[in-house]
Amino acid sequence: MPLSLYAWYSLNALESLGRRQARIAGEIEFERLTRFRELVHSEHGSVRVGFGFGQQTAGYTTVRLEYDASFELQCQRCLEPMEERVSRRASFVIVGGDSIPAGIPEDHEPVELSGDRFQPAGFLEDELIMSLPLIPRHARLEQCGGLVRSLDALEGESDTNSTKTLPARH
Ligand SMILES: [Zn+2]
Repeated sequence: MPLSLYAWYSLNALESLGRRQARIAGEIEFERLTRFRELVHSEHGSVRVGFGFGQQTAGYTTVRLEYDASFELQCQRCLEPMEERVSRRASFVIVGGDSIPAGIPEDHEPVELSGDRFQPAGFLEDELIMSLPLIPRHARLEQCGGLVRSLDALEGESDTNSTKTLPARH
């Protein structure tokens, strides 16, 4: 079976990927991530992602996730687009059934499968959505669009005016 970022893998299939230390990697267009693309300013762009499967001696299937993405958000201060870059390297343990088994390595996050199925692209989409800032804003005011900058300049002017002593009349 050819490996695909868009395929759904059962718990058994994941175990077999882990045993084979399979790797699934590729590039996903934002257009295909229907929930994520609603949250970003432009749906153009893509994310490079890699999933490396493995197995712990205790019998867990592990997933090593790596991704790099850059996308546009709308700055909540000036309402103009801003570029956000996110990259992450993280390890997970696939948890089937109800309880999280004991002895999971501390640096591995448990992944509870819904319906005992796992889709790499869907998992990545959840990760991307969780990475979004609550209130996106340009890091520095100088990066904001012209409107905010001129408002800021006006405020600055009125501040200095109010503290300035009036010129003496002739
Ligand atoms: Zn801004």
